[in-house]
Amino acid sequence: MTCIFCEKTDNLFENDLAKAFFDKFPASKGHILIVPRRHVPDYFGLTNEEHAAVQELLTKSKCYLDDQFAPDGYNIGANVGQAGGQTVFHCHIHLIPRYAGDCPEPAGGVRGAIPGKQTYQQRGL
Ligand code: AMP
Ligand code: ZN
Repeated sequence: MTCIFCEKTDNLFENDLAKAFFDKFPASKGHILIVPRRHVPDYFGLTNEEHAAVQELLTKSKCYLDDQFAPDGYNIGANVGQAGGQTVFHCHIHLIPRYAGDCPEPAGGVRGAIPGKQTYQQRGL
């Protein structure tokens, strides 16, 4: 079986259990993917050790992006399963830098995965 993420070697950061590289089709300037080295289909298959390894690279990547591009915010996310929007079935965590004004209404962020549900209204307060 061939897997594009198993084969990736152009890593920005790496450790024993994980690697980080730029997304080939970035959603914003600096979009990075963090993946375990082991071929595991999705986020919920990670071991505790892989979680720690991925977290280390997530933090390193965030510091790198702060330094290089000074974004104003971030989205962190993993799509799980076809219904969850996943298209590459080797676990990966998206680190998407956000820039003020990069979309008309940023409120709600990752809730925007479901069109029309990005923002919400507090009731009964
Ligand atoms: P997902 O839809 O959550 O599975 O995300 C897959 C991500 O992989 C998308 O953001 C793609 O832009 C990215 N992608 C696809 N092919 C490559 C590649 N060869 N190298 C780096 N990123 C890729
Ligand atoms: Zn793989």
